[in-house]
Amino acid sequence: MILPIVAYGDPVLRKKCKEIPEDYPKLDELIENMWETMYNAFGVGLAAPQIGRPIRLFLVDSSPFAEDEELQLQEREELKKLKRVFINPTIVEEEGDEWAFNEGCLSIPEIREDVFRKPKIVIEYQDENFKEHRETFTGLAARVIQHEYDHIEGILFTDKLSSLKKRLLKGKLASISKGKIKIEYKMRFPEMKKGR
Ligand SMILES: [Zn+2]
Repeated sequence: MILPIVAYGDPVLRKKCKEIPEDYPKLDELIENMWETMYNAFGVGLAAPQIGRPIRLFLVDSSPFAEDEELQLQEREELKKLKRVFINPTIVEEEGDEWAFNEGCLSIPEIREDVFRKPKIVIEYQDENFKEHRETFTGLAARVIQHEYDHIEGILFTDKLSSLKKRLLKGKLASISKGKIKIEYKMRFPEMKKGR
């Protein structure tokens, strides 16, 4: 089932999300619905708060980036393989010189901006069977995970922009909250007027 994606301005996107217990009700169904929702919107990642649940869960499938012929073969291989469910993750290490990449977000459509992030992370997480993992990711793969991880900490990529950039985007962000945008997927807007 395709779920509506929560738009910028909804308080659920600002929550520090809660750990998920193994007996969380209907988790398999939720994960299935999140994959469907993400692919329907042509996203490479989706975090639980984006569908209205403040829990520590996100999905990543970076394989569309693997098509980019300008990337090195090794990086393309890493991107092709990265299809995962991350439950109760913690980024335990983040290192290297920050680099910029033009990011977007399914909750903030029509806005894309350069965001600086460190190129290498070590993350501990549980998979959909609550099996523990510790893995290292670099480059674009790390970036997709960092973006989704920020979501479960209540952080959005627009928070990481300069104060000038933020001021310039203010009007556009307000329009998104009100639903005054054209999008191809189902969304839920916090300030949309009812009854129209
Ligand atoms: Zn996002």
